[in-house]
Amino acid sequence: MKDNFGRKIDYMRISITDRCNLRCCYCMPDGVECVPMREILTLEEYARIAACGALLGIKKIKVTGGEPFVRLGCCSFIRMLKETPGIEKVTVTTNGILLDRYLEELADAGIDGINISLDTPDPDLYGALTGGGDVKSVLNALEHALKLCGSRHIPVKINAVSLDLKDAARQLGVNYNGKGWQDMLAFARDYPVDVRFIEMMPVGYGKRYQSLNHEILLKELKIVFPNLEKDDRIHGNGPAVYYRIPGFQGGIGLISAIHGKFCPSCNRLRLTSQGYLKSCLCFEDGEDLKTILRGSGAKEEQDSRIVAAMERAITGKPAAHCFEHPEQMTEYDNMVSIGG
Ligand code: SAM
Ligand code: SF4
Repeated sequence: MKDNFGRKIDYMRISITDRCNLRCCYCMPDGVECVPMREILTLEEYARIAACGALLGIKKIKVTGGEPFVRLGCCSFIRMLKETPGIEKVTVTTNGILLDRYLEELADAGIDGINISLDTPDPDLYGALTGGGDVKSVLNALEHALKLCGSRHIPVKINAVSLDLKDAARQLGVNYNGKGWQDMLAFARDYPVDVRFIEMMPVGYGKRYQSLNHEILLKELKIVFPNLEKDDRIHGNGPAVYYRIPGFQGGIGLISAIHGKFCPSCNRLRLTSQGYLKSCLCFEDGEDLKTILRGSGAKEEQDSRIVAAMERAITGKPAAHCFEHPEQMTEYDNMVSIGG
């Protein structure tokens, strides 16, 4: 379905939990307020919303969180989505800590892509950024994912928040002698994996940290790699602009929410773990689907109310975010509650 600005909305991110096994400094350094499990939708309820979304043209789903693999049944949920008529692509975003143990099950469920969040391979800085995470578990999962997914043609990507790592290390009191974003590029050089840099959004604790400006990052990339080339092939669901460096196995993606406003091509909705459907990160507006799901009426009646609410969310999707005017934001929740 198209929104009021002619954008085709065919992608929904579903957060299946707001809990996480890490405590990233820009996301949920102090954990989350633990909402009782009954307030969180069941996996069947998310799947029902996905099926209603498919009636409106939602074709691609990203399973996210919190950390999706701390929710039991994540792989069965992915299988459920894959079996939903109209849903063509299901991908997952994970911090990678628990990924290794679920890789086979994920591939068997039919996953179409795995995004691993990793901001630095430096063990001390990674530990400090994530509140105690062990980067070895992520690197191990990455290596296994590349082997398994390579043989099954499932794309694996790395997502790195474009932090000024030296500044973050100073704020976190860590001795860091790494080379910042250049250390992340080594993954794309050595493995068939796209490395995507995501400008830090001033959402929740993200406001405390300095993001790299992608206009400047691109200039620096061009200085270090003068043969950097724009790559116009489509690599996924989203707004990343891709580049290739000759000799590198993977691409370099820039997701520039702030300095490369991509709202005119935004195709997404976000469903929070509590069943609140949002159409933009900046604004709290949305539709409470949980109340419909758990309210009165036969299943068919409820489903048509869900479809109508989803239509309202799509038609009400704002033209653009307002991160550059934080005073206009009405969303005060953290990324983890919204579903990153
Ligand atoms: N736990 C999973 C993970 O880390 O991939 C999924 C949820 S997490 C909220 C999804 C992504 O959002 C991660 O790549 C994380 O780095 C990113 N993120 C969190 N806070 C952010 C912020 N303020 N700006 C930009 N990205 C952010
Ligand atoms: Fe957890 Fe992902 Fe947030 Fe880090 S970014 S605290 S891994 S939800």
